[in-house]
Amino acid sequence: MGTVTPLRTKEETFYPGVVEAPRFSCALGGAYMSTLATFGAVPILHSGAGCGMSQNFGQNFGAGLNGAGPNGNTSTPCSCLVEEHAVFGGEEKLRDLIKTTTELVRGSLYAVISGCVPALIGDDVGAVVKEYRGGAPVIHVNTAGFIGNSYKGYEQYLEAVIDQLLTPQPVVRKRVNILGIVPYQHVFWKGNLQTIKNLLEKIGVQANMIFTENDGLEALQSIPSAELNLVFSPWSGINPARKLEEKFGTPFVVIPSVPVGPKDTSAFLRFLVRRLQLRRTRVEKVIAAEEHRAYRFTEYMADIAMMALPHAYTAIVADTGTAIGLTRYGSNELGWLPEVVVVTDDPPEEYREEIINHLTEGLESAVKPQVHFEIDSHKIRLLLREHTLQLVLASSLEKHIAVDELSAMQVSVAFPVYDRLIVDRTYAGYRGGLALMEDVAYKYGGPL
Ligand code: SF4
Repeated sequence: MGTVTPLRTKEETFYPGVVEAPRFSCALGGAYMSTLATFGAVPILHSGAGCGMSQNFGQNFGAGLNGAGPNGNTSTPCSCLVEEHAVFGGEEKLRDLIKTTTELVRGSLYAVISGCVPALIGDDVGAVVKEYRGGAPVIHVNTAGFIGNSYKGYEQYLEAVIDQLLTPQPVVRKRVNILGIVPYQHVFWKGNLQTIKNLLEKIGVQANMIFTENDGLEALQSIPSAELNLVFSPWSGINPARKLEEKFGTPFVVIPSVPVGPKDTSAFLRFLVRRLQLRRTRVEKVIAAEEHRAYRFTEYMADIAMMALPHAYTAIVADTGTAIGLTRYGSNELGWLPEVVVVTDDPPEEYREEIINHLTEGLESAVKPQVHFEIDSHKIRLLLREHTLQLVLASSLEKHIAVDELSAMQVSVAFPVYDRLIVDRTYAGYRGGLALMEDVAYKYGGPL
């Protein structure tokens, strides 16, 4: 048998010139989706027409087949800049666009989101926006796409809100803001936010989840009244939390992931007892009742979990927070063996060592995962091929490698997800682990 000549050298295979199927959009995309997630807010794009259209399907549809709401996609006002504006500037067109939008589209807040073109030609978008102060608030989010990715855009949106909209408020005891859960990009964002809010309500803490609240403007304006900001990510959301600390003196704490399952959820609530000085007996009563229910119901799924996936070798390919939450739950509560974790949200270098610690320390399994930071689908495919796996929790992009090449089960849990509808599904909280097992067992298809 002759030798097979590889189509690419090893170097070319590992360092292709382009990123294949990236797992986020640009900063404009993140700010655009955050605006749409603020109920009642209207985005106004100051960019080329393609910038907005590329988010249609690119961002919201990739977040579990979600629609973008009444002000998204083709309903979004856009200055649609062309060559003429690159030469003569686009400020005049933006003036007309803000004027007609505020007249024709009802909104409680207008967010002018500027992309690469106005940044390159030097439009003074901030000055134009200032002309429209007086009616419903108009803010400017400067998101030249080349500044960063969607996670950066989420932070820039919140930072624009902090700088241009928020004023000091009396601090309300036992009130917190939920930060770090990025709309659409974290595909379970709606369910995660609501679950955390409901959980905190049970222990007497009022949580402002900001996004999906019925009055988005009020939710934003009440941010400075919180006693504490909770950032549910080791990195995304930390910049706005710092800004809130500087401007309003609100301290923040970093929770590495949305807690999945009883162990991490109880640990999170006990942490809040200390941090917010809550009545321990009340919280312990809630924990006891919730744990009892969660473990009682775990008994219903125990047999199929043992038959289908006893100590399953698992790969997790997801954004940082999702990867940490699922790795810990699978390892500490289901006995899965976390073989490899690929972090796909491109966290800044300075946070990576800490993220590796979160993914490898405090696990009860004998296996500690190999941790990679990678956004390129081709390279992720090559990484997964190096392992023998039974379960792959990943994006839709890994579906075929998992099922066809590795003969593993695959569940889509991270962006992009386009093979399942995610409305308020969540793996957060006491019931979250059960929901995950329901989804995994559905892929297994039963013992026969
Ligand atoms: S990277 Fe720039 S040009 Fe491309 S979609 Fe984003 S804002 Fe528009």
